[in-house]
Amino acid sequence: MVNIVLFGPPGSGKGTQSALLVEHYRFVHLSTGDMLREAIAAKTPLGLKAKEVIEQGKLVSDDIVIGMIENRVEENVGVFGFIFDGFPRTIAQAEALDDMLERHSTFIADCVSLQVPFDLLKERLLERGKASGRSDDNEETISKRIHEYLDKTAPVADYYAKQSKLREVDGVGEIEEVNQRIKAAIDADTEHHQNI
Ligand code: AMP
Repeated sequence: MVNIVLFGPPGSGKGTQSALLVEHYRFVHLSTGDMLREAIAAKTPLGLKAKEVIEQGKLVSDDIVIGMIENRVEENVGVFGFIFDGFPRTIAQAEALDDMLERHSTFIADCVSLQVPFDLLKERLLERGKASGRSDDNEETISKRIHEYLDKTAPVADYYAKQSKLREVDGVGEIEEVNQRIKAAIDADTEHHQNI
C-alpha cells in the first residue's frame, strides 16, 4: 500500500488536489471535513454536535475524527492506498494514524505539505465561500481556522519531518501546475516503496 497525507492550512488546495490524485493513482480519498459535512447534512447526532464546532472555526475532538478514519480504513482493507486530506490535524491524530496503519501492516509514505501564503489563503477561502456557501468560509471563521491551524495543526509537519517524510510543495500557481509538483514528490519517493 502507498498512503499519503496531503497537508496544509485551510484553503491550500487539499480537496482540489486530492480529487486529481485519485484520478491519476488509485487512492481511496479520506477527507474528515467531507465526512463531517455528510454527517451534518444527514442530521446525525454526531453531525449536530460537529456543526457548532465547525462554525466556530475550531477543531472537532480527536476521538470523533480518529473513530471516523478508523472505520473507513477497516472498510477498505486491501485497497491500493489512502490519501488522507485534512487528517491528521493534531499530533494525537498523527500518532493514532500511525498506530492504526501499523495494525494493518502499512504506514504513511509521505506527508505532502502545500505551501501557500496566508493572504492568499484568505482570498481563496472567501472566493470559495461565495460559490460553495460553506458556512465556515466567512471572514471571522476563516481567521479562527487559521489560528487553530497555527496552534494545533502546524506541529504535525514537524512530526513527519522527524520521520523524514515531510515533502514541502509550492501550492501557488495553476491547479494543474501544483498537481504536477505533488505527483513529482510522490513518485520520487514511492519508487523506493513500490511501483505505482
Ligand atoms: P476541512 O473541510 O478539512 O477544511 O474541514 C472543515 C472543518 O471540519 C474544520 O475547520 C474542522 O472544524 C473540522 N475538521 C475536519 N477535519 C478535522 C480533523 N482532522 N480534526 C478536527 N477537526 C476537523
